[in-house]
Amino acid sequence: MKKIQNFINNEMVTSTSERLAPVYNPATGKVIAEVPMSTAAEIEQAVAAASAAFPEWAATSPLRRARIMNRFRDLLEQHAGELASIISEEHGKVHSDALGEVTRGLEVVEFACGGPHLLKGEVSENIGTGIDSHSLRQPLGVVAGITPFNFPAMVPMWMFPVALACGNTFVLKPSERDPSAALLCADLVRQAGFPAGVFNVVHGDKQAVDGLLAHPQVKALSFVGSTPIARYIYATGASHGKRVQALGGAKNHMIVMPDADMGQALDALMGAAYGSAGERCMAISVVVAVGDQVADRLRDGLVERLKTLKVAPGTDPQAEMGPLVTAEHLARVRSFVDAGEREGAELVVDGRGFKMETEGYEDGFYIGASLFDRVTDQMSIYREEIFGPVLCIVRVDSYAEAAALINNHEFGNGTSIFTRDGDAARNFAHEIQVGMVGINVPIPVPMAFHSFGGWKQSLFGDHHMHGPEGVRFYTKLKTITQRWPTGIRAGADFVMPTME
Ligand code: NAD
Repeated sequence: MKKIQNFINNEMVTSTSERLAPVYNPATGKVIAEVPMSTAAEIEQAVAAASAAFPEWAATSPLRRARIMNRFRDLLEQHAGELASIISEEHGKVHSDALGEVTRGLEVVEFACGGPHLLKGEVSENIGTGIDSHSLRQPLGVVAGITPFNFPAMVPMWMFPVALACGNTFVLKPSERDPSAALLCADLVRQAGFPAGVFNVVHGDKQAVDGLLAHPQVKALSFVGSTPIARYIYATGASHGKRVQALGGAKNHMIVMPDADMGQALDALMGAAYGSAGERCMAISVVVAVGDQVADRLRDGLVERLKTLKVAPGTDPQAEMGPLVTAEHLARVRSFVDAGEREGAELVVDGRGFKMETEGYEDGFYIGASLFDRVTDQMSIYREEIFGPVLCIVRVDSYAEAAALINNHEFGNGTSIFTRDGDAARNFAHEIQVGMVGINVPIPVPMAFHSFGGWKQSLFGDHHMHGPEGVRFYTKLKTITQRWPTGIRAGADFVMPTME
């Protein structure tokens, strides 16, 4: 059985841990590897390696760091297909979708290649007579990243390229459910020429995470995952005096107005709700139809389109939706469909009966797409994140009712409106209490040079990820005030200094 290794000091290291977890190929349902739950000593080794590498890396000029980052970028591009295959094998998403994930990660690497520009400070000349002031950004030290299963390459790349470009060193604790993508990235990091210890990967679960949360050498933590864990990471990290950004779960609504282009809205919904089997934090899981006519047209259009949705192993070039990540998650998604029926929503399309018949794939973690209509805000399928291919139609009478629904939801990650009405679109962008907003765009994931993050229970902390916010998160601001020439003698002054 393949045993997943840690990556410390630019070397693949076999863990001595006796606690091992199975890694599945969700398409076949078979165990394909074992991942170690690293020991406290191994977490310590990784942090020690990052800590030892920090002074020299921080002192390396941003331009030299960027040159190494550029080599990493090229290697990543060369290995994009291989990385996508690894993602697909352990996560289950279809290969083309995995390639898209790699591209979005690569874009953050490209952003990080601009490190010298990103780290330029601010200068004010003559803030007082003969006195100048400038602000600069310096790295924090060792920073850690804890990442979810659903984007095993892209989410780590939201973090470490920016952290490294800013002069920090990094310890990554990837999801134990699909740990191999991070290791290919680590190998490319080594090949690109990053010095030993600058980037490290340790596998594990809560125990490993708790080790990082409490470690005095870890100065900041970036987390992406579910809301209860994000809340815990934020509170625990902050109680240890660390800087924390913790991105949590989501329930993303798409409003469809009566004047929307219905064909466009339906195509958008199919991809946004069922792409990656709904296992995206930016997936649309609720469509809010303004008026019964809109709801009926959406429902009929979705039913029609779902008849031809191709559920298949991620390696099948025709596949549009692969399996879910684990049998446990499959059971959870099924239980939500059961709950929706019990709570009185109308189950228009039921994915629970789906059977994979292709030989060798019968035991994979598949479920078909489900569609509920007449969902209300009291139902668990509306309130909770299902993280599966289950779309809910909520019927409302007006735009105002739709916007209030979104603003009252505990999550605020992404949202979207489909309309031809500039007034409604403008109001929506202005008043909606959500971090990432789309107008006729179903999945408004910001590009690498903007920042990614939600509001309310979808993000704990002050900074969004990557883009300018990422640079702010991974650097400390220092402001220097200096007087030249030094010969001026004004005598001791005991009042608060002011400038003239
Ligand atoms: P998860 O919260 O179960 O796990 C995330 C990470 O936390 C993993 O590395 C895991 O090992 C670790 N972890 C799990 N339990 C822990 C505990 N008790 N203490 C400390 N660490 C623990 O999330 P997941 O199932 O891997 O990913 C899916 C979730 O991630 C969804 O809720 C999804 O919305 C969210 N997500 C959010 C974003 C975003 O940008 N907001 C992006 C991707 C995924």
